[in-house]
Amino acid sequence: MITPVMPTYARAPISFTRGEGPWLFDEDGQRYLDFGSGVAVNALGHAHPALVEALTEQARRLWHVSNIYRIPEQEALAERLIEETFADTVFFTNSGAEAMECAIKTARKYHSHHGSPERHRIITFEGSFHGRTLATIAAAGAEKLTDGFGPMLDGFDHVPFGDHEALNHAIGDQTAAILIEPVQGEGGVRPVPEQCLKGLRDLCDQHGILLILDEVQSGMGRTGKLFAHEWSGIEPDIMGAAKGIGGGFPLGACLATEAAAAGMLAGSHGSTYGGNPLASAVGLKVLETVLEDGFLDHVSRMSGLLRQKLEGLAASWPEVLTEVRGEGLLLGLRCKRPSAELLQAVRDERLLLIPAGDNVLRVIPPLNVQPDEIAAAMEALERACAKAAQISEERQLEEART
Ligand SMILES: *Cc1c(COP(=O)(O)O)cnc(C)c1O
Repeated sequence: MITPVMPTYARAPISFTRGEGPWLFDEDGQRYLDFGSGVAVNALGHAHPALVEALTEQARRLWHVSNIYRIPEQEALAERLIEETFADTVFFTNSGAEAMECAIKTARKYHSHHGSPERHRIITFEGSFHGRTLATIAAAGAEKLTDGFGPMLDGFDHVPFGDHEALNHAIGDQTAAILIEPVQGEGGVRPVPEQCLKGLRDLCDQHGILLILDEVQSGMGRTGKLFAHEWSGIEPDIMGAAKGIGGGFPLGACLATEAAAAGMLAGSHGSTYGGNPLASAVGLKVLETVLEDGFLDHVSRMSGLLRQKLEGLAASWPEVLTEVRGEGLLLGLRCKRPSAELLQAVRDERLLLIPAGDNVLRVIPPLNVQPDEIAAAMEALERACAKAAQISEERQLEEART
């Protein structure tokens, strides 16, 4: 019999009743160290006092009004985002997929607005992830996302990750934009080298096409800059953000330059909930916190510490781990055996990580994680690796026997 909740997730048999900082407590009061942060969403950990305060203060005054009125909280968040980024204007959504939908629509509308509606195709990369709507699964193109949901929305050209020749070949008269994640998250924590991002920017400028970045996972301080592309010095024309920007409250944003948003006029796009007073009040508090003096330096310091320890772990357990990769506090452990085995072993140690493609486990703690919490995670990982190594040895002995 089907479950009351549609069974689209293979859920772990645990549930939590309370959270505090990087800790989650289950129904039996067992404490777990959350180094998955709801997939890079709880950027400031659980129940951050300033976010609780921002949410409850706003909840007492006004939850929701329609976007047919001015929303001062939304305007304040947009203004602050604009101050801190390449963007001149922002459209707010409830999720990452909707932010990317808006990015795709903005790029198509740009060319149509300038008299070239035939320029509607967007080049995307294998291993990418842009959400679960029909447009965003078509954008990513992976079989495991699209299977059974056809016909796919037309207008996306997929090229292999890092294949410059294929990319050049894919650009044509109908190309509107190139869309890429500065660090592939779901695809297995694969960073795009700075040189490549610069190369993409140049390529877009040469051909008069737009550069769209998907920073839904890599943004909001996750890599030690407010947005990951800042490391390379380039700026996109359009960018999607979500996950961390609401700190756990559903919020997404599509940021764009004035030029790129040229066609997005009154009546062209909308959202019932996007950027409502509750979401905007929380989003503004998250942004202010991440931009406080020293916060992003803390992310970089914790990243250096965590990465060094993970490299050490991988070096001592070559039969379990093959590689550490990623940027900032968006790190990945590539596993030798199926990653589900190690995921289970770390969960048994009450440490939560998040699986990704390419047999990788994501290590994505809250951005305000502390050294003692990293030490606790490393102890759990040591024990889990020892157990995984033992299991793998037993399997090999068994295979040798039969
Ligand atoms: C999670 C994610 C999305 C989709 O966000 P939702 O809020 O789940 O719709 C899009 N792009 C990237 C890079 C993501 O990591």
